[in-house]
Amino acid sequence: MILRDLELGAMQAHILYHATIEPIYGSWMAGELAHHGYTISYGTLYPMLHRMQQEGLLACEERREGSQLRKYYRATEQGVRDLEQIRQRIRELYQELVLEKPGASSEHPSSRYGEA
Ligand SMILES: [Zn+2]
Repeated sequence: MILRDLELGAMQAHILYHATIEPIYGSWMAGELAHHGYTISYGTLYPMLHRMQQEGLLACEERREGSQLRKYYRATEQGVRDLEQIRQRIRELYQELVLEKPGASSEHPSSRYGEA
């Protein structure tokens, strides 16, 4: 369950990131997430986008494309601020889980606490 919890959070981080670059819509985002190796159904993705909109992270705009109405989402100022916090969390996590992995670095992490 911890893996799925992390994936759900990571997918929201991906959504937020892409929505700061340009307006995104559901089916494009589903393809992008699949490209990153995530599996998500529309039954999960659309409520996720809607919830992020309700939380003030995404703004939605409907655009008519031919005969269909498509919802485009872009990050709000709050979304941009939250993304920066997410970025800091991931940087910290990456530092410990990946860079300080035993054997991956010449300096053992415990040496940081050996001072004073
Ligand atoms: Zn991406």
